[in-house]
Amino acid sequence: MNQPNRPLPEELEGWKRTHTCNELNADHLGEEVCLMGWVQYRRDHGGIIFIDLRDREGLTQVVFYPEIAPQAHAKAHVLRTEFVLAIRGRVEKRPADMVNEKMRTGEIEIQITDFKILNHAETPPFMIEDRMDVSENLRLKYRYLDLRRPSVASNLILRSKITASVRRYLEQLGFLEVETPMLTRSTPEGARDFLVPSRINQSEFYALPQSPQLFKQLLMCGGLDRYFQIVKCFRDEDLRADRQPEFTQIDIEMSFVEEEAVMNMAEEMVRKLFQETLNYELPASFQRMTYDEAIASYGLDKPDIRFDLLLHDVTDIVHGSEFKLFANAELVKAIKVDGGSSLSRKAIDDLTNFVRVYGAQGLAWIKIKEDEWQSPIAKFLSQEERDGLQKRLGLKTEDIVFFQAGPADMVNTALGYLRLELGKIFNLIPEEQFLPVWITDFPLLEWDEDGKRWAAKHHPFTSVQPRHLQTLSENPGQAKARAYDLVLNGNEIGGGSIRIHSPEMQQVMFKALGIGEEEAEEKFGFLLDALKFGAPPHGGIAFGLDRLAMLMAKARSIRDVIAFPKTQKATCLMTEAPARVSSTQLRELGIRLREKTEAS
Ligand code: ASP
Repeated sequence: MNQPNRPLPEELEGWKRTHTCNELNADHLGEEVCLMGWVQYRRDHGGIIFIDLRDREGLTQVVFYPEIAPQAHAKAHVLRTEFVLAIRGRVEKRPADMVNEKMRTGEIEIQITDFKILNHAETPPFMIEDRMDVSENLRLKYRYLDLRRPSVASNLILRSKITASVRRYLEQLGFLEVETPMLTRSTPEGARDFLVPSRINQSEFYALPQSPQLFKQLLMCGGLDRYFQIVKCFRDEDLRADRQPEFTQIDIEMSFVEEEAVMNMAEEMVRKLFQETLNYELPASFQRMTYDEAIASYGLDKPDIRFDLLLHDVTDIVHGSEFKLFANAELVKAIKVDGGSSLSRKAIDDLTNFVRVYGAQGLAWIKIKEDEWQSPIAKFLSQEERDGLQKRLGLKTEDIVFFQAGPADMVNTALGYLRLELGKIFNLIPEEQFLPVWITDFPLLEWDEDGKRWAAKHHPFTSVQPRHLQTLSENPGQAKARAYDLVLNGNEIGGGSIRIHSPEMQQVMFKALGIGEEEAEEKFGFLLDALKFGAPPHGGIAFGLDRLAMLMAKARSIRDVIAFPKTQKATCLMTEAPARVSSTQLRELGIRLREKTEAS
């Protein structure tokens, strides 16, 4: 807002910065320097004025002495928080009682000789400090102010280091960075597309890519051999959990490779990334686990392997039990917490509500006490069942066991997430550790209950394992894919596969997915054509950059590592997108809104 009485800012007129606000220390004593930045605080101390000057890197204390620089001192009285300054002065040692050992610049201060007010600032809607209590919505509305907070900026600095490290690594391995279209056809990652109406071709729409999957395969068909791109992808999903409608992938594809080559390349990339940006050593070789093993022991295909607390199948032991829920269940699994029997009834009730979110009806539990099993279900369990459980779970006094019984998917999911919750409650997770694990041998297909058909678990261009070719037609659900995911601390950070590179195999896959020849031709004709003209064997992987950066920054949400994120309702509070458009714009596109009131 223009305030008429606001004085005009001063021009730089040749002043140049010599240092950042986080650089100067006792080694620079006596130097004449020039810093630029924002006023963090201003304090007046018996005639002397202090300010903390802030830039992206940190803070430096600046002092105005009336005797040394009377003019500057007089002018300093107008300074307020967030004014933008250029200062010139000399680096001096701080008086002993003002030394701040926690700050990099805490030993020195700048004795000002001259300064310029490069801009004025109104009082910001919140203080630009790390420890401040302000709603995320307000922060997002004024994101440019939020970004001035060092902790927010440091996430973006880390993110930039991550992409720089990835580029360095891939470049040196001969990968080419190639851009692929944003205005394209619908791609088949399985989410809803964002559509863009075409003005020139009315009634027709582009789709924003859910990933560059087909293009990167076509680049391999084009002989480009090794491709990567740090690229925006768009999926119009309901933003439950921590998702964004637009997100960034590190997208990679290679020719003439099998699983080992892609996984080794990706593993080394991630290891380098952690070394170069966090100075953190990941294991020399990442652990591997099949999908079936992950589900069996952890309940989830993205296991957090930093702590044990494994799931145990006890279906055989309690089959036919007097406890009706166990008697005929497809799957009964148990999880035991050593010494966990002190858990209160209230805590157990909370856990029962917790598992309901995953479709569980309730949560059976047993506390192993010195002389009895304390549990609402104990009276239904025979001695044989008790002995069986005791042996399989290695039960000891003061342990607590939780059970889940029912359809396999629900049991695994509910107990899988319960395991994570128990890990938190009992402090079993080494929070400082990063521990990656590869998950391999994924099922090729999964049953889509709504559509009553098989759907691709990864995507329709993923190869079936050669030994499961037969299985694909005989027992589709059992066929394994040449797909792999990289999981870090319970988060899927990357996933990829060896692709189908023959048109015949691609047709077999389409058939398994219930996509007829005509539909395949209409939707993916260009891919089928490309595969006919000598496509090389190829495979790749894509990493979710936002999630990876979030984990590395130890941030709470991916919004914290995105410069301008959207809210859970997919809106941008700063620009107020999405927004209505003018009727002229709509008319040009040949679009009429269905609402009663036409857009203005
Ligand atoms: N395009 C895939 C995805 O977005 C990743 C890949 O297969 O490379 O999930």
